[in-house]
Amino acid sequence: KVHIAALDASLLTIELAETLKPIPTPGTYTFGDIKTDYMLVMTFDPLTGWSAPEIKPYAPLALDPASNCFQYCTNVFEGMKAFLDPAGKPRMFRPEQNMARLVTSAARMALPMFDPDALLVCINKLVSLESRWIPALPDHALYIRPTMIGTKPSIKVGASDHATLYVIVTPVGPYFQSSSGGVSLLAVGEHVRSWPGGTGGFKLGLNYSPGFVPQRIASDLGYDQVLWLLGEEKQITEAGAMNFFAVIEREDGGVNVVTPPLDGTILPGITRDSALVLLRAHAADPSKQLLALPASKPVYIEERVLTVPELAAASAAGTLLECFGTGTAVLVVAIERIGDVADPALKTITDIVMSAGNGLGPVGQALWDKLLALKEGRDD
Ligand code: PMP
Repeated sequence: KVHIAALDASLLTIELAETLKPIPTPGTYTFGDIKTDYMLVMTFDPLTGWSAPEIKPYAPLALDPASNCFQYCTNVFEGMKAFLDPAGKPRMFRPEQNMARLVTSAARMALPMFDPDALLVCINKLVSLESRWIPALPDHALYIRPTMIGTKPSIKVGASDHATLYVIVTPVGPYFQSSSGGVSLLAVGEHVRSWPGGTGGFKLGLNYSPGFVPQRIASDLGYDQVLWLLGEEKQITEAGAMNFFAVIEREDGGVNVVTPPLDGTILPGITRDSALVLLRAHAADPSKQLLALPASKPVYIEERVLTVPELAAASAAGTLLECFGTGTAVLVVAIERIGDVADPALKTITDIVMSAGNGLGPVGQALWDKLLALKEGRDD
């Protein structure tokens, strides 16, 4: 009987580097460029199962050119961050959520399964070993990129029963460099990111590369990111690699915080979920001041379909108070304007603007403050 090994964190080995790299000055690098000293690697073979996980000096991988990942894009990944707490200890925020999402992504790509708890134990070790790379500055962190690729060495179309699972890390500062701290979005209808029954709800590499051309179009027209739409109604799905929130004033003096529902076309963001948990807890008892928002302005949370015409109408009526995006990379970022495209030639674009002006509005700011305090371990 052949024994197929499960992923076993107790077998982790660490090969130390002979020399460590110099740490660059924060602010001198852009997101994702810096290679640290180590990476975590493990492989799956259908005959033997998972290899012993290894932490070893950062280096290129050697892969068969026929590998399934190169031919059929069996690439899935995660994005998470480790922050330094006030005592200088690294902390991750809800990492078990990222592990669970990586499992669903791998399952969607028919990749081999692994024990998410075992992977997290190994990632903890990697982050501890690499903690000198976490910049001790506010809103700076070590970005963690778990990646799983199909490595079946055959060009035959079909699922990969071989895989490499690896984790690399990189120090990061604030994601967007704009002076105002906010971003502009171009609402693109010509190129669709995801659709009912598609793969938008999973973190697959193949969801991102088709967005590079529309992203270039948005940049050429002076917008930072793409607002991804679906259908004739211009239904909003998400923005760039962020989930989308709009804050709309109600007639009774309260505000509706609206975000599109998880209908399979949207990535179930962990920041999105955390924001909703905090907003719901605040709404249940505003006097507790879980979020620093005035109790006189009750908050109502709506997970529902939201369209560009609805935003345009609210903006014209002066009730579109704020829009913001959420994600691991940005945390919470203000959306300052949304270019609504009227014609396929991109000649007529009308900007939708927010009544709260540029920068984060009260709801976005309250979420930013709370989430960053939780992530930096200043708040439990
Ligand atoms: N949407 C997309 C398409 C993303 O890539 C991300 C980043 N993972 C998000 C939303 C935000 O998810 P999270 O809050 O888990 O980072």
